[in-house]
Amino acid sequence: MKSPKIVLLGPPGAGKGTQGSLISGYFEIAHITTGNALRINRDLKTEYGTPRSYMDRGELVPDSIVNEIVEVEIKKVGGFVLDGYPRNKEQAEYLSTIAEIDKVIYLHVANEELIKRLSGRRVCPSCSENYHIEFRPPVRNGKCDSCGDKLIQRSDDEKDTILNRLRVFSEYTKPVLEYYNNREGFTKVEGRDNPEDVWESIRNIF
Ligand code: ADP
Ligand code: ADP
Ligand code: ZN
Repeated sequence: MKSPKIVLLGPPGAGKGTQGSLISGYFEIAHITTGNALRINRDLKTEYGTPRSYMDRGELVPDSIVNEIVEVEIKKVGGFVLDGYPRNKEQAEYLSTIAEIDKVIYLHVANEELIKRLSGRRVCPSCSENYHIEFRPPVRNGKCDSCGDKLIQRSDDEKDTILNRLRVFSEYTKPVLEYYNNREGFTKVEGRDNPEDVWESIRNIF
């Protein structure tokens, strides 16, 4: 498949960022991450307040802000893998008006494992590369393998916020799975295994 348009769905910590990078490298397509785009613009003042005021509580940032980010990014590129969008049914409906999606991949991971992944996640503030203190430690303690910057813990990867994000996923993003479920191109992938095996399952879809 040449320059596919892919949606990667899954709860917080499922491995969307990790697998999204692999997909984007493999097909040479853009990796569009609403979470990263919002983190870069977290203090932007909008009529709804700043993105940060929602993200720090683990709530969804209002649709109009996120939809605009996605529309601008999609228009710049051919193929893409969308990571972290759509997160509710309204966003899914909006997406259908701006792009024709070829594949929707749902990464399934149980909550217990998600909590372990999120609480041990570390990220590079410069290049967004992600690590895990146990499952994917950097070569040099606390330093990014790609650029050497000091790794940080995301402010929303703290216990109470993690639990709220899982609740938000159940309430708002599960309906998105139902929205895509019976459409052609939808595949559920078991995301519990190690990253190499998950990547193998994803490659098998294509
Ligand atoms: P998401 O973007 O869905 O929130 P990430 O790709 O950031 O997920 O992964 C969350 C955390 O779990 C990171 O610390 C990452 O290194 C780690 N991780 C990703 N995939 C796996 C996996 N298959 N097994 C164990 N840990 C993983
Ligand atoms: P994760 O997949 O680990 O939960 P993301 O980086 O995708 O993390 O998202 C971080 C936060 O950014 C979310 O908790 C939410 O506040 C906001 N966000 C990201 N994508 C969206 C979206 N499509 N709609 C609304 N808010 C979003
Ligand atoms: Zn880095």
